[in-house]
Amino acid sequence: MIYCDNAATTSLDPRLLELLAQDYANPSSLHSAGRKAKAALEGAREKIAGTINAEIEEIIFTSGATESNNTVLAALNYDLLITSPSEHSSLLEPAKAHAHEIIWLNLDQEGFINHNELESLFQKHATKKILVSIMHGNNEIATVQDLARIGALCKKHNALFHTDAAQTWLKLPIDVRAMNIDALSASAHKVHGPRGIGFLYLSKSAQERLHNNGLMLGGGQEHGLRAGTENLASIVAMAELTKIYNPEKLRELETQLIEELRKIPGLVINGPLDRSRAVPGIINLALTQAPWLSEQLVLQMDLKGVCISSGSACSSNKAATEIQSSYVLRACRLPDEIASKSVRISLSIMNTIKEIQNTINALKELSHIQLAVK
Ligand code: PMP
Repeated sequence: MIYCDNAATTSLDPRLLELLAQDYANPSSLHSAGRKAKAALEGAREKIAGTINAEIEEIIFTSGATESNNTVLAALNYDLLITSPSEHSSLLEPAKAHAHEIIWLNLDQEGFINHNELESLFQKHATKKILVSIMHGNNEIATVQDLARIGALCKKHNALFHTDAAQTWLKLPIDVRAMNIDALSASAHKVHGPRGIGFLYLSKSAQERLHNNGLMLGGGQEHGLRAGTENLASIVAMAELTKIYNPEKLRELETQLIEELRKIPGLVINGPLDRSRAVPGIINLALTQAPWLSEQLVLQMDLKGVCISSGSACSSNKAATEIQSSYVLRACRLPDEIASKSVRISLSIMNTIKEIQNTINALKELSHIQLAVK
């Protein structure tokens, strides 16, 4: 089996197993074991903070990006949310539940927002408390937004800026100070860490703009912002990723794959043409000359031993009758005949060149079938 659905989740790096098996005490306990646990917790916080140039007190451990996104939308004080229609459902759903007013930005065909449109919205709504939430890297079409540019605009207009970095943390450089980011969500399991652990970065100034203390009440943990005994073993394992995760191989594998994909007749790659503006390892494509709709192609690839996906894993357990083309691709106004046939291949540093070759062969065979059928 060749696993190319790493944007959904990745395998656990075996080097973390020992850390996960360690017997930690409760970091809130007064005894020596508790104090040792507290030191491990704060050591991990420091390492995580370092990856995005945040301060230690600005990192809140959560169960992952879903919880972080929900917390931002529920707990920050704003009267207008400006966001994009290609955000992950863990942002879209709480946005609809909590925001009084939402403005959706337009996207171009590669998935990029328009900075002029954002600037004009700031001018038009100058009296409002604005929260801007734009994801860093898109989980389906890989578009990487220019966080520095968006952050500078937000700063100029005194708006809060949140970004969902679930697909980019440790893969692309992020500097919350230089980029003027107030809040950021991430999960460990997209980069071979454990599932169910992640963090929310919340700048000191954003912490002053909370209208409640987060979604979890009932304990003083995480600076009083997120109650509940910390998942310390997973937190320590996530912090270890900062030392062992090396994204360089991802670009190399991607380059090999794309080079070969471009030779397949009728194969179209969606998302940024300039791959330096794409999440490394996420490739969205359609076999336009073959008969397969997205889900059919996923199943055909599965029969050939390759796991890929259509749309986002988080919205794919819908009833068959509800399944249309991906909302992300529709938001980018891709023609229906491409959107309805698009699938996502997402690589990991653990994939091998041989696996890439076998994936290409499987796609080639499936693109040929159509020629025989015609
Ligand atoms: N945001 C994005 C962009 C994602 O890709 C995901 C995971 N598919 C999430 C948020 C949610 O992450 P988790 O399931 O770890 O909470």
